[in-house]
Amino acid sequence: MIHYIEALVPDRPPLLKRMEEEARKEFIPIIQLPSIQFLRVLLQLHRPKRILEVGTAIGYSAIWFANAVPDCDIVTLEISEEMVNRARKNIEEANLSDRITVIHRDACEGLEIDKPFDLVFIDAAKGQYMKFFNHYVPHLRTGGLLICDNVLLHGMVVDSIVPRRKRTMTNRLRVFNRFLAEHPALETSFVPIGDGIALCIKREGI
Ligand code: MG
Repeated sequence: MIHYIEALVPDRPPLLKRMEEEARKEFIPIIQLPSIQFLRVLLQLHRPKRILEVGTAIGYSAIWFANAVPDCDIVTLEISEEMVNRARKNIEEANLSDRITVIHRDACEGLEIDKPFDLVFIDAAKGQYMKFFNHYVPHLRTGGLLICDNVLLHGMVVDSIVPRRKRTMTNRLRVFNRFLAEHPALETSFVPIGDGIALCIKREGI
């Protein structure tokens, strides 16, 4: 089914296609096509002006977001210096350097933020989502959207047998998903698209 849905995703600019190819060859985890197309529709409904992305990688999703909402600005955090450089190059090639700011930083350390965000997208180290939540969701405006990618972790969060080296990450994601689902200030939906997306609207009180 995934190939069928992928084939229905509209054609992308050559830069995005080249990035998809690079990611595939080098095993760089970028968001899956059906997921990014879903987020594109969602972003056009929500129309955020300020987006915070946790986990830039090569800048693929940031470029998609910027294209989807032409008047938004994006701040994106990335821990790897190599990825930061590659992302900046791609963003420059996409002519989006004035709207996408890549910050070389370990997102676990938090960030000084002066203005609230309309959307927070979490897509970095899967074992650290709770930390990211605690740092950044307080800076999401009421009515803002929190989107977390990879929350089903190739189905491992529902499997009873998980490879040993994935157990900590899987358990942490299970705790995180439960936390989102039960949070009194969030309205959350888990969408089994791509690698699983958690979609939350923030109410008062975080
Ligand atoms: Mg992802």
